[in-house]
Amino acid sequence: MSENFARRPTWVEINLNRLADNFHSIKEFVGSGIEYMAVVKADAYGHGAVPCAQALEKAGIDWFGVALPEEGLELRKNGIKSRILCLGGFWEGQENFIIENNLTPVIFQTEKARMFDRASKKAGLTSRIHVKIDTGMGRIGVRWDQLGDFLRELKKLPHLEVEGIMTHFASADDLDENEFTQGQIDKFYRAVEIFEDYGFFPKYKDLANSPGAVAHENSRSNLVRLGGILYGLGGDVLPRGIVKPKLEPVMTLHSKIAFLKEVPEGETVGYGRTHKTERRSIIATVPIGYQDGFVRSLSNCGRVLVNNQFAPIVGRISMDWTILDVTDIPRVKVNDEVVLIGQQNGLSILAEDLARQIGTISYEITCGINRRVIRNYVESE
Ligand SMILES: *Cc1c(COP(=O)(O)O)cnc(C)c1O
Repeated sequence: MSENFARRPTWVEINLNRLADNFHSIKEFVGSGIEYMAVVKADAYGHGAVPCAQALEKAGIDWFGVALPEEGLELRKNGIKSRILCLGGFWEGQENFIIENNLTPVIFQTEKARMFDRASKKAGLTSRIHVKIDTGMGRIGVRWDQLGDFLRELKKLPHLEVEGIMTHFASADDLDENEFTQGQIDKFYRAVEIFEDYGFFPKYKDLANSPGAVAHENSRSNLVRLGGILYGLGGDVLPRGIVKPKLEPVMTLHSKIAFLKEVPEGETVGYGRTHKTERRSIIATVPIGYQDGFVRSLSNCGRVLVNNQFAPIVGRISMDWTILDVTDIPRVKVNDEVVLIGQQNGLSILAEDLARQIGTISYEITCGINRRVIRNYVESE
């Protein structure tokens, strides 16, 4: 949205310097000599795939990972030149634009392999593909112990080159599951041997997501696929109590007080009358609601920052409005900034904090900030 008119003062700030800093900090921690994939699916976990990919490409990332081929297409249309892996495979009919835009599909079904081979033949070329192995996630991927049929079919498809083999961890963030994670790693390398028995020697062998790369050194192999930690969301997807790279949150969420009023003791505010004032109170209304992704389950339990202090959310969060008790905030006035995710005066509210309060993970919070909330990108030269 580039139109220049006055808007509701509710915005997300995306700090692209921090994104690049996180990448460099992770690279220093994990090591050089391997390749790095930035996973920018789901609009870069709500941070904006195109600007994030542009910043990361400048910072020297090797690969991008997307869930859908159409997400890869968006990156290409915006000038991204690095390799792009479509982690979720593709749907029938997408073969041609995948080939034309130099996207690389993950494949785990013989029918899809045949489709992609046919399309590649028609285009007069051999296409690189990555094969996904299921070693314990139980989701997409050829089961590691049922590779034979798949590989026999793959042998018959001369227009495909198996460039990569990958798997995905189910519990790399949970150190109590270390044995399971190690089992996934073992099964993966067993699968690599089976590939080799069939004459496939893929260049890339990748397993690690964010917690894999940080907490399971032996899963780094020659490519790591990083999502959450690039965005600074380490608090709930990395195991507690381990040595980790320094990370800074990339996204902050802001609004401004739209309306202030004094309310006597004993009155209720908001839908369902779930909050009753226990004293004469100053009540602020802020223009953000659950439609924006400021989830309703934070009603009566979340808090925000106003004038360098915490202020509690009172009453139900509605579609477009959130109500605060700002009685204890000195000199509060209309248009004062409200920080819903971010820092003020050394106090902070992380996406991880909101997630914990409502029983989810930080990814769901940042992904959920609706496109009605404008994104402001900060990047120093
Ligand atoms: C989403 C995803 C990742 C990134 O996971 P993070 O926990 O955000 O690092 C890596 N690999 C695959 C296959 C994914 O789908």
